[in-house]
Amino acid sequence: MGIKNLTDRIYYLPHEAEVDRPMLAYLKGSRFSLAIDAGYSAKHIDDFYDQLEGAGLKKPDFTVITHWHYDHTFGMSRIHGASIAHEKTNLFLKEQQEKALEPSYINRLKKENLCFEREYHGETKLHIVLSDIQFRKELLLDLGGMTAKIYHTEAPHSEDTVCVYVPEEKVLFLGDATSEDFFNNGYMDKSKLRKLVHMIQATDCIYCVLSHTEPLRKEDLLSYLYGLSES
Ligand SMILES: [Zn+2]
Repeated sequence: MGIKNLTDRIYYLPHEAEVDRPMLAYLKGSRFSLAIDAGYSAKHIDDFYDQLEGAGLKKPDFTVITHWHYDHTFGMSRIHGASIAHEKTNLFLKEQQEKALEPSYINRLKKENLCFEREYHGETKLHIVLSDIQFRKELLLDLGGMTAKIYHTEAPHSEDTVCVYVPEEKVLFLGDATSEDFFNNGYMDKSKLRKLVHMIQATDCIYCVLSHTEPLRKEDLLSYLYGLSES
């Protein structure tokens, strides 16, 4: 499975359902490049960078994290350049770091999740790091001819949900924002979902990108979400 183009300047390595690896995106500005999410593991990042190299793209200058869940962050120690995360993401990662001091923690995660077992087969250690750059509300990155508006938003999936909007390409990256909260017994907070739907409606985008599926057109995502928020 190789790198795909969403627009001329936005690339992505598709998600892999069988191992639950999320998609990793790459925004190619004329001055800087930005990756979205740091992957499940160092191996995931190596695979991503191999694919970038194959497509003639340099390693990213920055990597922004959409939320703290391990499939989006545990490859962060391997990235090239500087990482960017919301302050709450770093708080959650700090908790993970402390848990990982206990050598049995990796085995617990493997037992709980078959995908984790596949991703970390034969591995005995986790290397969890916090981001280099931290923000609270939003951050604007001028990549050269392309802007990444990075902002925290309310969402049912996690408290630290971060979206990335690229106005020049009319693309909105949502991470797992629209999903239920797996760490709270799969609870779907309808009021948070409605707020998220409003935010998406108000955003001038053509594509909405979720991490565990192929990119969607805005109207297709919204009609799906209307069904969820009304039910
Ligand atoms: Zn998640």
